[in-house]
Amino acid sequence: MATLILNTTAANVAANSILPDPSLTNSVAATDKNAITNHNVTPEHHHPIVGDRVIEGDGTSQDVWQNWQGLQNLPRLNIAESFPLHQRVCIFAPHPDDEVLGCGGMLQQLAANGNPIVVVYVTNGSQSHPDSQIYPPQKLDTIRPQESCAALKVLGVAHNVTTIALDLTDGDVFAQQAQFTKKLAAIIQPDDILVTTFIHDGHPDHEATGQVVTAFAKQHKLACYQVLIWAWHWATPADSRIPWHYASRFDLTDEQLQRKSQAISCFTSQITVDESTGNPPILSAQTIARISQPWEVYLYEPQP
Ligand SMILES: [Zn+2]
Repeated sequence: MATLILNTTAANVAANSILPDPSLTNSVAATDKNAITNHNVTPEHHHPIVGDRVIEGDGTSQDVWQNWQGLQNLPRLNIAESFPLHQRVCIFAPHPDDEVLGCGGMLQQLAANGNPIVVVYVTNGSQSHPDSQIYPPQKLDTIRPQESCAALKVLGVAHNVTTIALDLTDGDVFAQQAQFTKKLAAIIQPDDILVTTFIHDGHPDHEATGQVVTAFAKQHKLACYQVLIWAWHWATPADSRIPWHYASRFDLTDEQLQRKSQAISCFTSQITVDESTGNPPILSAQTIARISQPWEVYLYEPQP
């Protein structure tokens, strides 16, 4: 998932309960240094890539989402109907863990139905631990895809899933869109259904992934779903920055939710304190609670 951080000192990290993502600060710093050094960022402050979709502080709590009637009222996504068995489903994870955090329920349903599935890791998430002795980039490059493999096994979907790593640079997907599109052309088949992160999810890599995949889908007239991941953090109920009229929810069974939670616990590098830097887990308890709900929300804009 990789958290967006707008201030980079350890004190600020602790005070705001937000987490460092060097990949992000590095890439953004290259774009606009001033934009990330403001210590009192408010939604009025625009990030050079994600605008006002700023991930800071604890974010909207799971209770607030649970109590929002609008979420209860969303139409249900019937996966068996919308994802015919003969069609392959390609799920795009900007970082290895997004496929489970966002689509852990859908993955189980697709596998149970028998759809062939491809999980595409856009990056290997190697920049999640700046200055870490325990998790240097070259180690994360191997560890994070391995954690995802373990999680897919726990979900019980590994037999239906093929994984592909695009090896783009963590934190810099925005600058690699042309390369990304070229790689897509080599992978995607004419009948595939694509699932990607939301074009306005709030993390630059998630937004870049969403933009490249939705543009490709549009050009090739492929069905494309966008899943909300970081949007649950910065958005609030009925938030006008999310096109709710295109949204539908997939409801997880108790067993699916339980497996999704167990799968999330496979991402050891993301859920533990880094003893070498003293940094808190990348995925906070609140972030995990917020994403471990018995629903997943997908946006689907019908092709004209
Ligand atoms: Zn991510």
